[in-house]
Amino acid sequence: MEKLYEGKAKIVYKTEEPDKVVIYFKDEATAFNAQKKDIIEGKGILNNKISSIFFNLLEKNGIPTHFIKQLSDREMLAYKTTIIPVEVVVRNLATGSIVKRLGITEKTPFNPPLIEFYLKNDQLGDPIICYEHILALGLATEEDIKKIKELAFKVNQVLKDFLKNIDIILVDFKLEFGKKDDESIVVADEISPDTCRFWDAKSGERMDKDRFRLNLGDLSKYYEEVLRRLEGEKS
Ligand code: UDP
Repeated sequence: MEKLYEGKAKIVYKTEEPDKVVIYFKDEATAFNAQKKDIIEGKGILNNKISSIFFNLLEKNGIPTHFIKQLSDREMLAYKTTIIPVEVVVRNLATGSIVKRLGITEKTPFNPPLIEFYLKNDQLGDPIICYEHILALGLATEEDIKKIKELAFKVNQVLKDFLKNIDIILVDFKLEFGKKDDESIVVADEISPDTCRFWDAKSGERMDKDRFRLNLGDLSKYYEEVLRRLEGEKS
């Protein structure tokens, strides 16, 4: 298959159908703008399976995504999109970069949830931007941003409610949006413990990429536990 794009954690391949792509999930883990790197055996498989479950859940709840189906352990079939170069972060509890940036107390709840935008640009280290920057830089239209915000809050509600049932707190997460050939906006990229913060509701343990960022170890064990709970809930 012809490679269309290779990122830090995934490879996108062309298919015979011009509007569809295959997304291949790699085992590479990166953090702090790729200054910290490692390979975690099997992570790609876990993220592909977990993302597929989340995309299915969103679709079932009427949220449009690029997801078509899981093809294999490491591959999913998706609609080809043009990614809007804005990373959208939704936060329910304060942790990570916002705590350092704004000096707020760890675990401060955000009610309503907080939405933030970051410019998707590795060279610049994904700087935070605001609504006006998005318009001024022509990254998306007013109408696009309205849609993106509406979808991001819906995704938060659906995921948060679902995860609560399996004793996982959805602390925050990052979404990417893409435009399909028909110009419609859909949730794209991945939704996995690499892009979300999941805390065990009972023990408070981190079940996400913070295990890698903070050198807590046992990343695969916790990703597997997320998948195990999701699979239990799915049936
Ligand atoms: N996130 C991500 N990719 C990024 C930056 C952040 O998936 O390039 C996710 C991260 O996993 C977390 C949320 O977005 O769930 C908020 O991350 P934060 O801004 O706190 O950044 P970090 O502390 O990871 O630098």
